[in-house]
Amino acid sequence: MDKIKMMTPLVEMDGDEMTRILWQMIKDDLLLPFIDLKTEYYDLGLEHRNETDDKVTVDSAEATKKYGVAVKCATITPNAARMTEYHLKEMWKSPNGTIRAILDGTVFRAPIVVKGIEPCVRNWEKPITIARHAYGDIYKNVEIKVPEAGKAELIFTAEDGTVMKETIHEFQGAGILQGVHNTDASIQSFARACFNYALDTKQDLWFGAKDTISKKYDHNFKDIFQEIYDAEYKERFEELGIEYFYSLIDDIVARVMKAKGGFIWACKNYDGDVMSDMVSSAFGSLAMMTSVLVSPTGVYEYEAAHGTVQRHYYKHLKGEETSTNSVATIFAWTGALRKRGELDNIGGLMDFADKLEKATLATIESGKMTKDLALITSLDNVTVLNSKDFIKEIRKTLEAM
Ligand code: NAP
Ligand code: MG
Repeated sequence: MDKIKMMTPLVEMDGDEMTRILWQMIKDDLLLPFIDLKTEYYDLGLEHRNETDDKVTVDSAEATKKYGVAVKCATITPNAARMTEYHLKEMWKSPNGTIRAILDGTVFRAPIVVKGIEPCVRNWEKPITIARHAYGDIYKNVEIKVPEAGKAELIFTAEDGTVMKETIHEFQGAGILQGVHNTDASIQSFARACFNYALDTKQDLWFGAKDTISKKYDHNFKDIFQEIYDAEYKERFEELGIEYFYSLIDDIVARVMKAKGGFIWACKNYDGDVMSDMVSSAFGSLAMMTSVLVSPTGVYEYEAAHGTVQRHYYKHLKGEETSTNSVATIFAWTGALRKRGELDNIGGLMDFADKLEKATLATIESGKMTKDLALITSLDNVTVLNSKDFIKEIRKTLEAM
């Protein structure tokens, strides 16, 4: 059988720990035998980020802008423990934060729904897609640990020298301070990305923030969404019979728990970070959630929503067997390959992506799965597979197709 040819390379961002191991297995067993895989490789593993003073992360994001489609493995965001573990020169920033800041855009996260894995919220019948704003707020914060009594002020100096000033707090003793920002341009592209995605997928769009407490900051998000909706999208939404509505984030959370699913939930950056983990766990497993960053210029970066699965990696290092779920990482690859096929008009590549996804789900539905799914499945006669054997089983299903 001839391998499927590619035209433009995918930007390949390798990562850390257990997901780095899965990454190689997926390439060896599920991709390279079938595709003449063209990638431009960037090693975002923590060691290499440290060697390059994190330049590799910036380079990989620039390459994504150039080629249009990237696929990313989970990576370590360094903390104090990682500083010693990896002998880091600096506590490098989160690669996802860096990439999102360069590409801007919105992260869409949707659960991978499969027979035999029922959501623990019984009334959720359809997937809930989280649209996470990927720029600013606490992910671009500046912080001060206040050592003693003193006055904290918020100051803005316009280019013409005009000054706006607010007192934040008169400290009587030690405390903490944080400055966050966002830009109208980024919020506007977030809003448009959400409205476009809702039209594309014919789903309602819900948006929640805390405008009652944050009367300028969060209120600005609410106003921008409404202005853009009224001016550019209202008619098309009405034609399709879908709706957009805004409500307080607490009200939205309550409604989500009672809903049937089948809608997009737009979240500010932090809300999306937290809520997507809740939604994915409730749908089954963190390892059953896809994630794609869509930039306002139409650049795509696909990844799994979970982390590097550190606990499993330490077991792996000790020579113990692991049963790590590779589904979200496989779907990151299929998402990227399908988009590459779409952009370059390569039917075979899109077709392959569809088949690999089907083979992955069919393998689970036949009762062969990793431990995280075996613990929650409603299927009988389940075989729990280790990380490698699960991928080998998918290969068998794929070949049979
Ligand atoms: P995590 O890697 O998502 O894992 C948390 C736990 O969830 C695991 O210990 C495991 O539970 C379960 N889990 C997650 N993915 C799984 C999978 N594919 N198969 C089976 N079980 C899975 O989060 P973390 O342990 O908090 O973070 C580890 C590292 O990942 C950190 O250094 C963090 O910075 C990084 N991280 C990266 C990204 C990213 O690159 N997008 C996102 C989040 C975190 P059990 O141990 O109970 O089996
Ligand atoms: Mg998170």
